[in-house]
Amino acid sequence: MTQFDRDRTQQPAVAVARRERGAPPVPEQTSAMPAFWQDEDAAASADTAVATDLARMFTDIDSIGHDPTRPDTGYHRAAWTREDLALRAWFARECDSLGLDLRVDAAGNQWAWWGTPSPQHPGVTTGSHLDSVPDGGAFDGPLGVLSALAAVRALQAAGVHPARPIGIVNASDEEGARFGIACFGSRVLTGALGPARALVRTDQDGTSLREALDSAGIDTDAYGPDPAALALTAAHVELHVEQGYWLADTHSPVAVATHIWPHGRWRTEVGGVPDHAGTTPMERRDDALLSALAFPRDAHDAALAHGARATVGHLEVLPGGANVIPGHVTLWLDARASEEEALSAVLEDLAPWDPVQESFTPATHFDAQLRARLVAILADVGLGAPEIGTAAGHDAGILQNSGTPTAMLFVRNRTGSSHTPTEFATLSDCVDGVRALTACLGGLAGQSLGPGEGGAS
Ligand SMILES: [Zn+2]
Repeated sequence: MTQFDRDRTQQPAVAVARRERGAPPVPEQTSAMPAFWQDEDAAASADTAVATDLARMFTDIDSIGHDPTRPDTGYHRAAWTREDLALRAWFARECDSLGLDLRVDAAGNQWAWWGTPSPQHPGVTTGSHLDSVPDGGAFDGPLGVLSALAAVRALQAAGVHPARPIGIVNASDEEGARFGIACFGSRVLTGALGPARALVRTDQDGTSLREALDSAGIDTDAYGPDPAALALTAAHVELHVEQGYWLADTHSPVAVATHIWPHGRWRTEVGGVPDHAGTTPMERRDDALLSALAFPRDAHDAALAHGARATVGHLEVLPGGANVIPGHVTLWLDARASEEEALSAVLEDLAPWDPVQESFTPATHFDAQLRARLVAILADVGLGAPEIGTAAGHDAGILQNSGTPTAMLFVRNRTGSSHTPTEFATLSDCVDGVRALTACLGGLAGQSLGPGEGGAS
């Protein structure tokens, strides 16, 4: 009996799935191809088995938090909602069909293991998240989880017996859409966010995370960091649809991530004199909003000059009456750049506005050795992978910062847009993503051909 066979006999996934109360039944499969890929032909894809598998899985979950007949509409899959629980139940069922051992860590993240990891024999992990922003796209998150499932299925179909265990994570609440903190599950798992602070967060209906977890059957007394679960991962590779336009203009379906850009948020205040909108002559006004409007323009120009990104997306006008001249404006700046020097240069240009830093996250560089291995593995399978940075945050960054060697693969996004229903990856590119991930997992986990042939563990 191989390790894989032993794991199959345990089949604990169903029992774990049952613990999560309130999950509606997983929808039955209705068609072999989701509407957003209707124009594509799975058979035309390079790897038909993987294309069929991916299309089937995306179809399976397409009606969860979404109208599957309307590819132009978005997905609503906030963490710990009925929709999220349906996705977790679906994930458990898929893992069960692969004979994986499903566990839930103390922070509510689902991990499914092929083989049995231990701190002395840690595994290679992959995966992403299944939750979405409000009105989000089909790929942000699910592509990483579904590609991981497809990759494990491909390895099993090829008769591979990995020397190291392989794990798939469905990280909880990556988007932070409901409780206001992104990468919620990985932050709690790694201790970057303490349980006391986490459990009292409330959504816009006043429901606390504690209440949401209670109703999902997650043990809130044990909720918190889980170093024992983290110790089971020797290396982690997250596959994600690219959130940006870089690959759209290239011939590469896949890229390896170098780093997450440094980014921060700043606040600036602009004063004026509030007065009557009707009785104050135009030439006697000191309108704070008129003065403040130069700030978004200056930020835009500074970002252009230094190859950075700057956005003023939120402002508060006081006293806020339609018939009162604005007396005070507060503006919030979000600024990011590939390198910290560029970000500093933007802030220097904006110094006359006295921006006050509200938050700052330095760059996260993914593990150099792991990145180099991925590039080499991809070259071996004929996928030249450019290395690019990303201006979006990911669970992978949290894991890297906690000391787990981590890397990321990006799959080309044909529209470049993200957090909207218009984000789009072709089936063919997604198949290449699975091919890349399969090669990376196989390469990192080590392979043997089977008992007696390669020393399967
Ligand atoms: Zn994501």
